Parts: sequence; C-alpha cells; structure tokens
Amino acid sequence: MNPNSPILGIDLGTTNSLVGVVDSGFPILLADENGSRSTPSAVCFAEDGTITVGAVALRQRALHPMHTITSVKRLIGRRPGEGGWVPPYVLSDLKTSPVEVSAEILKHLKAVAERALEQSVSQAVITVPAYFNDAQRNATKRAGELAGLEVLRILSEPTAAALAYGLDKFGEHQKVAVYDLGGGTFDISVLEMRDGTFQVLSTAGDTQLGGDDLDRMLAAFIAERLNLPANDIRVLEAAETVKKRLSVDETAAFNGLDITRADLEKIARPWIERTRMHCLRALSDAKIKLDQLDEIILVGGSTRMPLVRDYVRELFGREPNTSQNPDEAIALGATIQAGILSGSLRQVLLLDVTPLSLGIETFGGLMNIIIPRNTTIPAKAGEMFTNAVANQDNMLIRILQGERELAKDNWELGRIEVPFPAGPKGSARVGVQFSIDADGILHVLARDTATNQDTTLEISGTAIDVEDERVEQMIAESVDFAFEDMNERIWTESKFKAEELLPAVDAALTQLGDAITDEERSDVLKHASEVRRLLQSPGHDAKALKAATQLLDDATQSLAVLLLDRAMEESLVRRGLV
Ligand code: AMP
Repeated sequence: MNPNSPILGIDLGTTNSLVGVVDSGFPILLADENGSRSTPSAVCFAEDGTITVGAVALRQRALHPMHTITSVKRLIGRRPGEGGWVPPYVLSDLKTSPVEVSAEILKHLKAVAERALEQSVSQAVITVPAYFNDAQRNATKRAGELAGLEVLRILSEPTAAALAYGLDKFGEHQKVAVYDLGGGTFDISVLEMRDGTFQVLSTAGDTQLGGDDLDRMLAAFIAERLNLPANDIRVLEAAETVKKRLSVDETAAFNGLDITRADLEKIARPWIERTRMHCLRALSDAKIKLDQLDEIILVGGSTRMPLVRDYVRELFGREPNTSQNPDEAIALGATIQAGILSGSLRQVLLLDVTPLSLGIETFGGLMNIIIPRNTTIPAKAGEMFTNAVANQDNMLIRILQGERELAKDNWELGRIEVPFPAGPKGSARVGVQFSIDADGILHVLARDTATNQDTTLEISGTAIDVEDERVEQMIAESVDFAFEDMNERIWTESKFKAEELLPAVDAALTQLGDAITDEERSDVLKHASEVRRLLQSPGHDAKALKAATQLLDDATQSLAVLLLDRAMEESLVRRGLV
C-alpha cells in the first residue's frame, strides 16, 4: 500500500453516490467542482459517444430518456432476465452492461477525488447492500477495477453506517438496527458487535421501496389537481422538491397549488407502513426482541421526513439516533474503513494509549520510566539526569520500551548522545523530555541545561503501534520475572550507594584520626567490611546488601557530624576566634 496515496471510501448508491477520504486524521467527503458532495448515480451515453455522469447526465434525461441510465445498481450482478434485467435494458446500440455503467460512475467519483486532492488515487473501499450475494459483490468489485481502482474491501452498507455513527466504540454484544430508507430501496439490518467488529445478524427490506415511489404518488396528486400529465418529468421533479420542503415546512406551493405536510403524510402513510413487516422480520430472524436493541440508527435521505422518524419511534418504541447526516452516513463509514485500512485512522480509532511504558536507561542498566503504559496520548513528561562519573563529557541516552526493570530486557527504540562540559560527578544537568503527539510519534528532546544545547530524536510508529501479542508477552514476562527483576533493581541501587559510601567512609576515618574512639572506629569498619563482603559475594543478595549499606550509612552519620564539627572548629581557629 502506498502510504502517500489515500484510499477512497465510496458509497455507490442506487440514486446518489458519494466519495470520501481521511485527511489529517479526519474522514471528509469530497465535493465536485460545483461544491456538491453527492453525485446522482446517472449516466448518459449520447449518440456521439460522449459519456456524462451525475447531475449533467440527469439534465439530459429529459432530452435523451432512452440514453440516460439511472438506478443501475438494481441490476448489477444479475444475469440477463433476472430481477428485471432484460437485454437490451439499455438500448441495444449502446452495448453496455450494468458493470460498465457502474464503472462510469466510479470513474467520475475517482476524478472528483483526484481533483479535490490534487493527486492520483488508485484504491478504494466500496459499499454494497448487506443482502448482495457474491455475484453482486464481485460485479461491484469489477466495476471498480474497470474504473482503475483496486477495491481493497467491499463493505456492507449497515456496517458502514454503524461506523459512521461511531458505534464501533460500543462494547461486545451490543445490538444495533440500521433503518435505511433511500430513494429507491429500503433496507433494515440488525448488527451485533462481536470481537470488535460488526456482524450482520439479519437483513430484510424491499428493493422497490423508496423516496422515488413517494415522488410518483405526490406527482400524481399534484397532476390531478393541476390537470397535468402525471408522468411529466417536470411534475415529478417538482414533487420531489415539494416533498423535501415539507420535511422542514408545513406547506409548499407548486404552480399556485398549496400542498401541506398533512397532504403528503396521508399519501405517505401506506408507503411507510410497508417497512413494518421487514423490520419485524429482521428482528425475528436475528432472534432478538425489540427491547434487546441497544440503538436504532437512521440512514438514507428519506429518513429526514418527520413522518418516517415518528414511525420508527413508534415501531421500535425508542428514540432513533439521528446524530449523523442520513444521506452521508454510508459514505462516511466507507471512508472511516478506508482510513483504518490505510493506517491513517488507526491511532485515533483503536489505540489512544501507550501500550507499553517508555523510558530511558539509567545507571547500572536500569529502566527509568518517563511515560508509563496506558497513558492517554498526546502526552508529555520529562526528568533531569546527571553524570554518574567525574569528567564524563557526554551521556548516551537509550530510549526504551517495556515493562522490565532492567534495560537489557526492554526494547531499544533509539539512542541519542548528549554532549556536556566535563565536570565532577553529579555536575551535569541533562533534562530529557518525551512527548507523544496525536499521531503517535514520539519526540525525544535532551537538553544540557548548562549550554541550553538540544539534541532531538523522532521515533514514529513504534511507540504506540505494537502488535497485541508482543504487548501481552512483554507484560506476562514482567509478571513472571517480577521477583528477579525487583531483586536486580534493589541490588543495583544498593551497589551504587555502597560504592559511593565506602571511599567516603575511608576518607573520613583517615581525616578524623584519633578524634573518634576505637570502639566507634571498629564499629564503622565492621559495617564497611560487611558491605565489601556482600559486594564480592557471587550471589546477588540484594536484601542483605541494602540492609548492610543502610547500617553503614547510619554508622557513618556520627562521623559526618564529627567531620562537620571539626571543620567548624578549624575555621574558627584559623580566623583567630578561639
Ligand atoms: P439516498 O438514496 O440516501 O440518497 O436518498 C435519496 C432519497 O431521499 C430521495 O428519494 C430524496 O428525495 C430523499 N430525500 C432527500 N432529502 C430529503 C428530505 N429533506 N426530505 C425527504 N426526503 C428526502
């Protein structure tokens, strides 16, 4: 997959088709040069061989009704003679097939996308009704290929709708009904979330039921009152306009005739009632009762009608979810699926926390966590580090990922070297900051605070994007080795402390000479030799070393006090004050 070329999400609809793409992490639908995001699924094959698609083709319908093909989706994947596909469905001299007609629509959508994106595209996800059989799915795929698109997935329309409504964030076994009433078809599907994806439990509907029927009925109503022929294309177009207006207003006028919403609803009542038995059938096929549904979502332009919403509310006994634009939901879902496939939506949808801890190696090969696992991204954290050895003039920072106490058991994501002026032990001040941006890229910044010199490193992908199995294995190992790991950490920390303490004790004893009693001296020496013995013993007895180091530390506390007193006294003597 070419990471730079986006994958299109396409709703190849019976009446209208739409195309989208994930841009900067967001799914967006693309508009043509007229600003329209919806293309009528119409193709006109003019006598001179020119082919037009969309609104232009539709405008030609009045002039060339026999050369303009609409609703080709009803025929795709069917053999001649099946489901109304009677050759020549299209004029025999056109010599075209439903696959080729669909390919023209897809070519047009591809061009719309390429114009909007200013780059070529070659891959797509295309939606089909849930009831499409293999032949119909394959025919849709072939149409895509004919249009120059590699079809990465054929996605069920209700699944796309559920994705658009964000229902993939639902928990396991949540059940959703998708009520889709478009221009030419009605579909009802029941989905269940299983293993993080939607399964279509059942689907029912009527391929000859949609808003177009209502347009015809309303056209007949209008024609009768105005004494016009009902099949006049202008009356039909006016009927659709009036119908849409009545979704918002109570009345609409055409040629001096006032039509009310009540008029439309009277005509529409028997029409909408026809969806009832399909809904009940889908529920019974899915073997679920109405009250087991977690959500009912509306899809398709006709569900904008208040009558349809009221009807669904009554039938399902609950408020339908109308949060998405019903005529764009399927295209949006196809786009989201395309985004998931291309990886451009992955972090946002699936992983918004760090799967494993991120940190750096510190003294003695220990892991120092900077951003713990399960931190929500974006995230930022940092710490100060110093040099463990005198005269060191640089620090190697190894960036690690994992849950183990020892650096060597974690994974190295990268390393940077930070230079700083040489000085005594503990004199350097290096700030290390980790920040993970919304795209999951880890930015590491190391700053020597003395010179304000920055060293940076960018690590993309690996900080967030780790295979589930590897994450699980890492966590399991951190539990299995928890005891050994912790022992090793305590050992390393105690050893570090002991190695600091021992030379300091020796120096103090020499300096103090006979200022301390023999008893005090032998007490301190006893603890010091115990620490030395443990350091050299083969088995790393972390607990014993920690305890012995603590005793030595306590015993030397009195030495430290004496040393301080001595220094004070000397200073006073020097200055002639005593
Ligand atoms: P679709 O197949 O989803 O594009 O839906 C197209 C159908 O929805 C056509 O029959 C349109 O007339 C109808 N439609 C679109 N907008 C509205 C609206 N505001 N009110 C009623 N019907 C609408």
